[in-house]
Amino acid sequence: MSYKIPLFDLNFDEKEEQAVIDTLKSKWISTGPKTIEFENKFSEMLEVKHSVALSNCTVALHLAMKLLDIKEGDEVICPSLTFVATCNAIRYVNAIPVFADVVSKDDLTIDPVDIERRITKRTKAIIVMHFGGFACDMDNIMEIARKHNLKVIEDACHAPLSEYKGQKLGSIGDLGCYSFFSNKNISTGEGGMLITNNTEYYERAKLLRSHGMTSMSYERSKGHSTTYDVVDNGFNYRIDDIRSAIGIVQLDKIEEDLNKRKEIREMYLLKMESIDRIIVPFSDCENFSSNYIFPIILKNSDYKRRDKIRDKLAEAGIQTSVHYPAVHRFSIYEKYAVSLKNTEYVADNLITLPMHSGLTEKDIEYITKTLKSFC
Ligand SMILES: *Cc1c(COP(=O)(O)O)cnc(C)c1O
Repeated sequence: MSYKIPLFDLNFDEKEEQAVIDTLKSKWISTGPKTIEFENKFSEMLEVKHSVALSNCTVALHLAMKLLDIKEGDEVICPSLTFVATCNAIRYVNAIPVFADVVSKDDLTIDPVDIERRITKRTKAIIVMHFGGFACDMDNIMEIARKHNLKVIEDACHAPLSEYKGQKLGSIGDLGCYSFFSNKNISTGEGGMLITNNTEYYERAKLLRSHGMTSMSYERSKGHSTTYDVVDNGFNYRIDDIRSAIGIVQLDKIEEDLNKRKEIREMYLLKMESIDRIIVPFSDCENFSSNYIFPIILKNSDYKRRDKIRDKLAEAGIQTSVHYPAVHRFSIYEKYAVSLKNTEYVADNLITLPMHSGLTEKDIEYITKTLKSFC
Protein backbone atom coordinates (compact mmCIF):
# COMPACT_ATOMS: atom_id res chain seq x y z
CA MET A 1 0.00 0.00 0.00
CA SER A 2 1.29 3.43 -0.79
CA TYR A 3 0.26 6.43 1.29
CA LYS A 4 -1.10 9.72 0.01
CA ILE A 5 1.13 11.47 2.55
CA PRO A 6 4.22 9.47 3.53
CA LEU A 7 5.95 9.93 6.86
CA PHE A 8 9.18 10.89 5.17
CA ASP A 9 10.48 11.67 1.70
CA LEU A 10 14.06 11.81 0.46
CA ASN A 11 15.37 15.26 -0.45
CA PHE A 12 17.26 13.92 -3.49
CA ASP A 13 17.66 15.29 -7.03
CA GLU A 14 20.17 15.17 -9.92
CA LYS A 15 22.92 16.47 -7.63
CA GLU A 16 23.07 13.22 -5.65
CA GLU A 17 22.96 11.24 -8.92
CA GLN A 18 25.81 13.29 -10.36
CA ALA A 19 27.89 12.89 -7.19
CA VAL A 20 27.53 9.10 -7.41
CA ILE A 21 28.44 9.03 -11.10
CA ASP A 22 31.45 11.29 -10.55
CA THR A 23 32.69 9.04 -7.76
CA LEU A 24 32.22 5.89 -9.85
CA LYS A 25 34.13 7.52 -12.70
CA SER A 26 36.95 8.57 -10.39
CA LYS A 27 37.55 4.84 -9.83
CA TRP A 28 38.05 5.35 -6.10
CA ILE A 29 34.89 4.01 -4.51
CA SER A 30 35.95 2.91 -1.01
CA THR A 31 37.09 5.26 1.81
CA GLY A 32 39.14 8.00 0.19
CA PRO A 33 39.08 11.68 -0.81
CA LYS A 34 35.28 12.05 -0.73
CA THR A 35 35.17 10.67 2.80
CA ILE A 36 37.87 13.12 3.93
CA GLU A 37 35.92 15.98 2.33
CA PHE A 38 32.68 14.80 3.98
CA GLU A 39 34.37 14.65 7.40
CA ASN A 40 35.95 18.08 7.05
CA LYS A 41 32.71 19.66 5.95
CA PHE A 42 30.83 18.00 8.81
CA SER A 43 33.37 19.26 11.38
CA GLU A 44 33.10 22.77 9.99
CA MET A 45 29.31 22.81 10.04
CA LEU A 46 29.11 21.32 13.52
CA GLU A 47 31.88 23.54 14.87
CA VAL A 48 33.71 20.51 16.23
CA LYS A 49 37.40 19.56 15.95
CA HIS A 50 37.10 16.03 14.58
CA SER A 51 34.68 13.87 12.60
CA VAL A 52 35.13 10.21 11.65
CA ALA A 53 32.76 8.89 8.96
CA LEU A 54 31.53 5.36 9.55
CA SER A 55 29.29 2.72 8.01
CA ASN A 56 26.36 3.65 10.30
CA CYS A 57 25.54 5.14 13.70
CA THR A 58 25.24 1.80 15.48
CA VAL A 59 28.98 1.27 14.99
CA ALA A 60 29.62 4.88 16.07
CA LEU A 61 27.90 4.05 19.37
CA HIS A 62 29.95 0.85 19.67
CA LEU A 63 33.18 2.78 19.06
CA ALA A 64 32.08 5.33 21.68
CA MET A 65 31.87 2.50 24.24
CA LYS A 66 35.34 1.25 23.24
CA LEU A 67 36.93 4.72 23.26
CA LEU A 68 35.57 5.47 26.73
CA ASP A 69 36.83 2.08 27.94
CA ILE A 70 33.41 0.86 29.06
CA LYS A 71 33.66 -2.78 30.01
CA GLU A 72 31.85 -5.78 31.41
CA GLY A 73 29.88 -4.95 34.54
CA ASP A 74 30.08 -1.16 34.09
CA GLU A 75 26.76 0.66 34.21
CA VAL A 76 25.67 3.13 31.56
CA ILE A 77 22.60 5.29 32.11
CA CYS A 78 20.46 5.66 28.98
CA PRO A 79 16.93 6.53 27.87
CA SER A 80 14.40 3.80 27.08
CA LEU A 81 12.48 6.12 24.74
CA THR A 82 14.99 5.76 21.92
CA PHE A 83 15.85 3.53 19.00
CA VAL A 84 17.14 0.22 20.33
CA ALA A 85 20.64 0.76 18.83
CA THR A 86 21.38 3.32 21.57
CA CYS A 87 21.08 0.57 24.19
CA ASN A 88 22.39 -2.35 22.15
CA ALA A 89 25.78 -0.58 22.02
CA ILE A 90 26.01 -0.83 25.80
CA ARG A 91 25.49 -4.59 25.57
CA TYR A 92 28.17 -4.98 22.84
CA VAL A 93 30.80 -4.39 25.54
CA ASN A 94 28.86 -6.42 28.16
CA ALA A 95 28.06 -3.32 30.17
CA ILE A 96 24.69 -2.86 31.90
CA PRO A 97 22.05 -0.46 30.58
CA VAL A 98 20.38 1.49 33.38
CA PHE A 99 17.20 3.03 32.01
CA ALA A 100 16.15 6.52 33.08
CA ASP A 101 12.79 8.17 32.45
CA VAL A 102 12.04 11.17 30.24
CA VAL A 103 11.27 14.56 31.79
CA SER A 104 7.52 14.71 30.98
CA LYS A 105 4.92 14.36 28.25
CA ASP A 106 6.03 17.79 27.00
CA ASP A 107 9.76 17.09 27.11
CA LEU A 108 10.69 13.64 25.78
CA THR A 109 14.40 13.89 26.61
CA ILE A 110 16.13 12.05 29.45
CA ASP A 111 15.47 13.49 32.91
CA PRO A 112 18.61 14.73 34.74
CA VAL A 113 16.92 14.20 38.12
CA ASP A 114 16.25 10.56 37.26
CA ILE A 115 19.80 10.18 35.91
CA GLU A 116 21.28 11.32 39.21
CA ARG A 117 19.01 9.01 41.20
CA ARG A 118 20.30 6.00 39.25
CA ILE A 119 24.03 6.62 39.68
CA THR A 120 25.92 3.90 41.59
CA LYS A 121 29.62 3.09 42.20
CA ARG A 122 29.60 1.15 38.92
CA THR A 123 28.22 3.96 36.73
CA LYS A 124 30.74 4.97 34.03
CA ALA A 125 28.77 6.97 31.49
CA ILE A 126 25.51 8.54 30.40
CA ILE A 127 24.12 8.24 26.87
CA VAL A 128 21.64 10.96 26.02
CA MET A 129 19.43 11.07 22.93
CA HIS A 130 18.23 14.40 21.54
CA PHE A 131 14.67 13.32 20.77
CA GLY A 132 13.40 14.59 17.43
CA GLY A 133 16.27 17.09 17.31
CA PHE A 134 15.26 18.77 20.58
CA ALA A 135 18.13 19.20 22.99
CA CYS A 136 18.44 17.38 26.29
CA ASP A 137 19.07 19.53 29.37
CA MET A 138 22.82 19.56 28.71
CA ASP A 139 23.80 22.07 31.45
CA ASN A 140 22.40 19.83 34.15
CA ILE A 141 23.58 16.61 32.52
CA MET A 142 27.18 17.86 32.11
CA GLU A 143 27.13 19.15 35.69
CA ILE A 144 26.03 15.72 37.00
CA ALA A 145 28.70 14.05 34.85
CA ARG A 146 31.44 16.32 36.24
CA LYS A 147 30.29 15.81 39.80
CA HIS A 148 30.32 12.00 39.49
CA ASN A 149 33.22 11.74 37.03
CA LEU A 150 31.13 10.20 34.24
CA LYS A 151 31.55 10.34 30.46
CA VAL A 152 28.75 11.67 28.25
CA ILE A 153 27.84 10.27 24.84
CA GLU A 154 25.31 12.14 22.72
CA ASP A 155 23.19 10.06 20.38
CA ALA A 156 22.52 12.95 18.01
CA CYS A 157 21.00 10.86 15.21
CA HIS A 158 17.94 13.12 15.08
CA ALA A 159 19.81 16.34 15.48
CA PRO A 160 22.14 17.63 12.73
CA LEU A 161 22.66 21.39 13.25
CA SER A 162 20.29 21.34 16.23
CA GLU A 163 21.49 23.46 19.11
CA TYR A 164 21.56 23.80 22.87
CA LYS A 165 22.05 27.44 23.90
CA GLY A 166 23.92 28.14 20.67
CA GLN A 167 26.12 25.03 20.80
CA LYS A 168 25.69 22.28 18.22
CA LEU A 169 24.33 19.01 19.57
CA GLY A 170 26.83 16.18 19.55
CA SER A 171 29.72 18.54 20.33
CA ILE A 172 28.90 19.12 24.02
CA GLY A 173 29.62 15.71 25.59
CA ASP A 174 32.75 13.57 25.13
CA LEU A 175 31.52 11.97 21.89
CA GLY A 176 28.61 12.59 19.52
CA CYS A 177 27.08 10.01 17.18
CA TYR A 178 25.18 10.69 13.95
CA SER A 179 23.27 8.52 11.48
CA PHE A 180 22.74 9.01 7.75
CA PHE A 181 20.26 6.14 7.33
CA SER A 182 17.77 6.87 4.52
CA ASN A 183 15.06 8.42 6.67
CA LYS A 184 17.32 10.74 8.71
CA ASN A 185 17.79 14.47 8.07
CA ILE A 186 20.94 13.66 6.09
CA SER A 187 20.51 10.54 3.94
CA THR A 188 23.21 8.41 2.34
CA GLY A 189 21.43 5.04 2.47
CA GLU A 190 23.59 3.77 5.31
CA GLY A 191 26.18 5.93 7.03
CA GLY A 192 27.25 7.49 10.30
CA MET A 193 29.64 9.93 11.94
CA LEU A 194 31.45 10.06 15.25
CA ILE A 195 32.40 13.57 16.36
CA THR A 196 34.63 14.80 19.18
CA ASN A 197 36.81 17.65 20.36
CA ASN A 198 39.21 15.11 21.91
CA THR A 199 42.18 14.37 19.62
CA GLU A 200 43.09 11.10 21.38
CA TYR A 201 39.60 9.70 20.86
CA TYR A 202 39.74 10.83 17.24
CA GLU A 203 43.06 9.12 16.52
CA ARG A 204 41.93 5.86 18.11
CA ALA A 205 38.52 5.96 16.38
CA LYS A 206 40.32 6.14 13.02
CA LEU A 207 42.39 3.07 13.94
CA LEU A 208 39.39 1.11 15.20
CA ARG A 209 37.40 1.98 12.07
CA SER A 210 39.83 0.05 9.92
CA HIS A 211 41.14 -3.10 11.66
CA GLY A 212 43.56 -1.20 13.93
CA MET A 213 45.81 -0.67 10.90
CA THR A 214 48.17 2.30 10.88
CA SER A 215 47.52 3.20 7.23
CA MET A 216 44.60 2.87 4.83
CA SER A 217 44.58 1.62 1.21
CA TYR A 218 43.99 5.13 -0.07
CA GLU A 219 47.10 6.46 1.66
CA ARG A 220 49.14 3.56 0.32
CA SER A 221 47.80 4.15 -3.21
CA LYS A 222 49.04 7.73 -2.96
CA GLY A 223 52.50 6.55 -1.92
CA HIS A 224 52.20 8.11 1.55
CA SER A 225 53.13 4.72 3.00
CA THR A 226 53.95 1.32 1.61
CA THR A 227 53.30 -0.86 4.63
CA TYR A 228 51.32 -0.91 7.85
CA ASP A 229 51.31 -2.17 11.40
CA VAL A 230 48.27 -3.36 13.38
CA VAL A 231 48.22 -1.73 16.80
CA ASP A 232 44.65 -2.23 18.04
CA ASN A 233 41.90 -4.85 17.82
CA GLY A 234 39.85 -2.94 15.27
CA PHE A 235 36.86 -3.51 13.02
CA ASN A 236 35.73 -2.73 9.50
CA TYR A 237 33.41 0.19 10.24
CA ARG A 238 34.30 2.21 7.14
CA ILE A 239 31.97 4.20 4.92
CA ASP A 240 32.65 4.26 1.16
CA ASP A 241 33.26 7.27 -1.07
CA ILE A 242 30.02 6.72 -3.00
CA ARG A 243 28.02 7.36 0.15
CA SER A 244 30.33 10.14 1.32
CA ALA A 245 29.81 11.90 -2.02
CA ILE A 246 26.03 11.78 -1.44
CA GLY A 247 26.62 13.06 2.09
CA ILE A 248 28.50 16.11 0.82
CA VAL A 249 25.56 17.06 -1.44
CA GLN A 250 23.15 16.49 1.44
CA LEU A 251 25.18 18.84 3.66
CA ASP A 252 24.85 21.54 1.00
CA LYS A 253 21.07 21.18 1.22
CA ILE A 254 20.58 20.79 4.93
CA GLU A 255 20.18 24.40 6.04
CA GLU A 256 17.42 25.07 3.55
CA ASP A 257 15.80 21.74 4.39
CA LEU A 258 15.79 22.51 8.11
CA ASN A 259 14.31 25.97 7.55
CA LYS A 260 11.51 24.39 5.57
CA ARG A 261 10.91 21.85 8.34
CA LYS A 262 10.77 24.69 10.86
CA GLU A 263 8.01 26.36 8.82
CA ILE A 264 6.13 23.07 8.60
CA ARG A 265 6.34 22.62 12.37
CA GLU A 266 4.98 26.14 12.88
CA MET A 267 2.07 25.38 10.54
CA TYR A 268 1.33 22.19 12.46
CA LEU A 269 1.46 24.02 15.82
CA LEU A 270 -0.95 26.70 14.63
CA LYS A 271 -3.47 24.27 13.17
CA MET A 272 -3.30 21.96 16.18
CA GLU A 273 -4.20 24.62 18.72
CA SER A 274 -7.87 23.71 18.22
CA ILE A 275 -7.40 20.03 19.11
CA ASP A 276 -7.54 19.84 22.89
CA ARG A 277 -7.06 16.14 23.49
CA ILE A 278 -3.44 16.12 22.33
CA ILE A 279 -0.09 17.35 23.58
CA VAL A 280 2.51 18.62 21.12
CA PRO A 281 5.81 17.98 22.92
CA PHE A 282 8.50 20.69 22.98
CA SER A 283 5.94 23.34 22.01
CA ASP A 284 7.82 26.03 23.92
CA CYS A 285 11.34 24.92 22.96
CA GLU A 286 13.64 27.85 22.21
CA ASN A 287 16.68 25.99 20.87
CA PHE A 288 17.06 25.52 17.11
CA SER A 289 15.85 22.03 16.16
CA SER A 290 16.30 19.88 13.07
CA ASN A 291 12.67 18.71 13.42
CA TYR A 292 13.58 15.18 12.46
CA ILE A 293 10.05 14.04 13.34
CA PHE A 294 6.75 15.56 14.44
CA PRO A 295 5.38 13.62 17.42
CA ILE A 296 2.08 14.21 19.21
CA ILE A 297 0.76 12.54 22.36
CA LEU A 298 -2.87 11.67 23.06
CA LYS A 299 -4.21 12.85 26.43
CA ASN A 300 -6.15 10.51 28.76
CA SER A 301 -5.69 7.67 26.33
CA ASP A 302 -4.21 4.19 26.00
CA TYR A 303 -2.42 2.17 23.33
CA LYS A 304 -5.62 0.62 22.02
CA ARG A 305 -7.14 4.00 21.27
CA ARG A 306 -3.82 5.21 19.84
CA ASP A 307 -3.56 2.21 17.53
CA LYS A 308 -7.15 2.71 16.38
CA ILE A 309 -6.45 6.35 15.52
CA ARG A 310 -3.31 5.30 13.65
CA ASP A 311 -5.36 2.79 11.65
CA LYS A 312 -7.87 5.47 10.74
CA LEU A 313 -5.14 7.86 9.67
CA ALA A 314 -3.68 5.09 7.51
CA GLU A 315 -7.08 4.56 5.90
CA ALA A 316 -7.12 8.28 5.12
CA GLY A 317 -3.76 7.85 3.37
CA ILE A 318 -1.62 9.33 6.13
CA GLN A 319 1.40 7.31 7.17
CA THR A 320 2.33 7.49 10.85
CA SER A 321 4.84 5.82 13.13
CA VAL A 322 5.66 5.46 16.83
CA HIS A 323 8.95 6.88 18.12
CA TYR A 324 9.45 4.67 20.03
CA PRO A 325 8.30 1.43 21.59
CA ALA A 326 10.10 1.58 24.96
CA VAL A 327 13.37 -0.36 24.87
CA HIS A 328 13.00 -1.64 28.46
CA ARG A 329 9.87 -3.53 27.37
CA PHE A 330 11.61 -5.54 24.62
CA SER A 331 12.14 -9.23 25.48
CA ILE A 332 15.90 -9.01 25.32
CA TYR A 333 15.95 -6.15 27.87
CA GLU A 334 13.60 -7.86 30.31
CA LYS A 335 16.33 -8.40 32.85
CA TYR A 336 17.18 -4.68 32.96
CA ALA A 337 13.56 -3.49 33.05
CA VAL A 338 12.45 -0.91 35.59
CA SER A 339 9.23 1.06 35.87
CA LEU A 340 9.38 4.33 33.89
CA LYS A 341 6.09 6.15 34.22
CA ASN A 342 6.47 8.90 31.60
CA THR A 343 8.27 6.71 29.08
CA GLU A 344 5.56 4.05 29.30
CA TYR A 345 2.73 6.55 28.83
CA VAL A 346 4.50 8.17 25.88
CA ALA A 347 5.33 4.83 24.23
CA ASP A 348 1.63 3.88 24.42
CA ASN A 349 0.15 7.19 23.32
CA LEU A 350 2.55 8.83 20.90
CA ILE A 351 1.87 9.16 17.18
CA THR A 352 4.57 10.38 14.81
CA LEU A 353 2.99 12.41 11.99
CA PRO A 354 4.55 13.06 8.56
CA MET A 355 7.51 15.46 8.60
CA HIS A 356 9.75 16.29 5.66
CA SER A 357 10.60 19.38 3.68
CA GLY A 358 8.31 18.41 0.78
CA LEU A 359 5.08 18.79 2.79
CA THR A 360 2.72 21.57 1.69
CA GLU A 361 0.29 23.71 3.69
CA LYS A 362 -2.51 21.69 2.10
CA ASP A 363 -0.96 18.45 3.41
CA ILE A 364 -0.72 19.86 6.94
CA GLU A 365 -4.31 21.11 6.71
CA TYR A 366 -5.47 17.64 5.62
CA ILE A 367 -3.48 15.84 8.33
CA THR A 368 -4.67 18.07 11.17
CA LYS A 369 -8.31 18.04 10.02
CA THR A 370 -8.29 14.27 9.72
CA LEU A 371 -6.63 13.89 13.11
CA LYS A 372 -9.13 16.28 14.71
CA SER A 373 -12.07 14.26 13.41
CA PHE A 374 -10.74 11.15 15.17
CA CYS A 375 -9.70 12.74 18.48
C1 LIG B 1 18.76 5.83 13.45
C2 LIG B 1 19.15 5.81 14.84
C3 LIG B 1 20.22 5.01 15.30
C4 LIG B 1 20.93 4.00 14.44
O1 LIG B 1 21.53 4.54 13.33
P1 LIG B 1 22.04 3.58 12.14
O2 LIG B 1 22.83 4.52 11.29
O3 LIG B 1 20.82 3.06 11.45
O4 LIG B 1 22.87 2.51 12.73
C5 LIG B 1 20.59 5.12 16.62
N1 LIG B 1 19.96 5.96 17.47
C6 LIG B 1 18.91 6.71 17.08
C7 LIG B 1 18.27 7.62 18.05
C8 LIG B 1 18.47 6.66 15.75
O5 LIG B 1 17.44 7.41 15.37
